[in-house]
Amino acid sequence: ARNSPVDYLSDLNPEQRQAVETTDGPVLVLAGAGTGKTRVLTTRIAHILATGRAFPSQILAVTFTNKAAREMKQRIGLFVGEAIEGMPWLGTFHSIGVKILRRHAELVGLRSDFSILDTDDVIRLLKQLIVAEGLDDKRWVPRVFAQMIDGWKNKGFGPEDIPEGDARSFGNGLGRELYRAYQQRLIALNACDFGDLLLHPIRIFRTHHDILADYHRRFRYILVDEYQDTNTAQYMWLRLLAQRPRSHADEGNAPQGVNICCVGDDDQSIYGWRGAEVDNILRFEKDFPGAAVIRLERNYRSTAHILGAATHLIAHNEGRLGKTLFTDRPDPEDQKVSVHAAWDSDEEARAIGEEIEALQRKGHALNDIAILVRASFQMRSFEERFIEIGLNYRVIGGPRFYERQEIRDAMAYLRVVANPGDDLAFERIVNVPKRSLGDAAIRQIHDTARLLGVSMLEASANLAESDEMKPKPRGSLRAVVANFSRWRDLLETTPHTQLAETILEESGYTDMWKNDRAADAPTRLDNLKELIRSMEDYGSLREFLEHVALVMDKDKNENLDAVSLMTLHSAKGLEFETVMLPGWEEGLFPHQRALDEGGRSGLEEERRLAYVGLTRAKQNLHIWFVSNRRIHGLWQSTVPSRFLEELPEAHIKISEGGSDFGGYGQRSDQAFSSSYATPGWQRARQNRNEATSRNWGNRSGPAVERIGYGEADSGYGAGRGAVKSHTIEGE
Ligand code: ATP
Ligand code: MG
Repeated sequence: ARNSPVDYLSDLNPEQRQAVETTDGPVLVLAGAGTGKTRVLTTRIAHILATGRAFPSQILAVTFTNKAAREMKQRIGLFVGEAIEGMPWLGTFHSIGVKILRRHAELVGLRSDFSILDTDDVIRLLKQLIVAEGLDDKRWVPRVFAQMIDGWKNKGFGPEDIPEGDARSFGNGLGRELYRAYQQRLIALNACDFGDLLLHPIRIFRTHHDILADYHRRFRYILVDEYQDTNTAQYMWLRLLAQRPRSHADEGNAPQGVNICCVGDDDQSIYGWRGAEVDNILRFEKDFPGAAVIRLERNYRSTAHILGAATHLIAHNEGRLGKTLFTDRPDPEDQKVSVHAAWDSDEEARAIGEEIEALQRKGHALNDIAILVRASFQMRSFEERFIEIGLNYRVIGGPRFYERQEIRDAMAYLRVVANPGDDLAFERIVNVPKRSLGDAAIRQIHDTARLLGVSMLEASANLAESDEMKPKPRGSLRAVVANFSRWRDLLETTPHTQLAETILEESGYTDMWKNDRAADAPTRLDNLKELIRSMEDYGSLREFLEHVALVMDKDKNENLDAVSLMTLHSAKGLEFETVMLPGWEEGLFPHQRALDEGGRSGLEEERRLAYVGLTRAKQNLHIWFVSNRRIHGLWQSTVPSRFLEELPEAHIKISEGGSDFGGYGQRSDQAFSSSYATPGWQRARQNRNEATSRNWGNRSGPAVERIGYGEADSGYGAGRGAVKSHTIEGE
């Protein structure tokens, strides 16, 4: 039967089998994409359980996302049957960290019912502390400090450990004091942030050897997936749990403590910007002497063309550990990776939509198709198009475009202008950006509105002229009321896109994000630009708002057969029959910001991200680039990504048919760049080579117009389901 212990082993190749059966001692599986690393981990757990080496509660298994943890549980269940009651210690670093901390909270001054603050809470708290120090919170931005603290915690630094230079760089040299005050406040509030979920346990393990020894006895086997993306704090935490101190080992007979198995791929390290240390892989053998290092070379996921394209691309990186990869996955159609060009992002979305419908007609399930984007703003044109043609889709690892905070805020302004009675919208933005209209003021507006039986905006107009309100909020309220009445007057005379821009400018909303030095602020500004751009497709503000209302109303049934839409970062570890990779243009992918800030290593991390994208595909892989991106109503010509050039000719086919270029000759609108007037990617590529020699040294040259792509929008926290909300799964 399927569940007999031997059966699962027979499904493995010899190296995989070795990785599963080497249960004792440290094991590092270092292997390329799709070679079965995750499968090895799952089978290894099944093997440990089936052979009675440990109970489920004695296995600690770390996955990168909650989703991965759930899938792993299911698969283990298939192997070993229902008899196994869950696995309490299978989850993300955060979900396991919180569980450990709850058991020993009192040792760091917390109660076991401590709460976990999300980013907004943290920022609010930091702001209070910054202001209390007499510092200007405009100059010393709380959000920026929150990110600094997160960075320190990723490195395992408490307030005492941060380098002097770091400490001095914030708050007039008060960085360390502020960090310390923050930690004290958290304790006083019986709360912690996400970093503390690992840092507190690390401190407890270091100071309470009895507790650590207890965990050493408890966790007989430790397993870690996506090991290349662990950061220093995670690594310290793991090492404490996995490594018995020498003294233990020396006196005991057989030190069986270090049954740790990590699997990873240095070529898929894509969280360097969040503090992940790929060097952890290199240190493994040093920290765990006698480690068995197992390499898997056979890829079971992708066809030869897909794998060939991916390995050729990643070979352009330096400083790799180097791996061999081959596949014998049959591909009766001998299908190459296809590269398509489109005029702009709308055409790209239209063409991809058609491609998907064609696949659907051939019997492919939508669940087997994914679109992986570099930056979240790219999703909008796909979402729009899919809604238009009635194609089911789901966005994984982030809110859908119109559900994003900045988009909802902007829409709220527009809704009030279109409909002054929209109290929900009004309330959302009356104090965004901050205008000293706090809870008390809002309550007053509410009460007045109820009393007079009018809208909140009208009530505000009333209050602004009475002396019931304190002078400061009254002044702000008067300005808000005046603004809305002016914008409403413009409604009839000004084109709606221009009006929207005016509103976001005059309300201070755009400035709010411009002044925000947080890493995700540029992304938000991009999304706002994209919002305005998308309004051009509608005749009036009302038409646009109706459209969005309908979009928002789409049901979100999870069990639907649907195309997956997500960022490359959140696609890690997943696989799909068909993968579409749009937006392969310089500046977008590789992302300009990664190049500007990371230099060569930034480029290499982008290339690893491309490698992750390519290797998600099993059978069909399509790459797209557009010749023009329209930002703010302006055409900007783009240059195909250098990564396209790094794909070997033998494995790609350049798609010339269909709508890809057909329309080019007829398109004479606007600033259609003459360099793309000749159809064909070859031509584009040739042009790009010219552009290359002209501009690579000086990237502000004319052929490469810089488009304001924002933050590598992998999303702060993308891929880590657990970090986003108060609730941590598996707790
Ligand atoms: P990634 O680096 O992308 O995380 P991975 O190394 O974790 O990839 P898996 O996801 O474990 O790879 O495996 C890739 C695919 O190959 C899966 O569909 C898996 O079921 C299949 N596979 C792995 N090993 C075997 C095998 N021995 N026989 C058949 N299929 C296999
Ligand atoms: Mg995997």
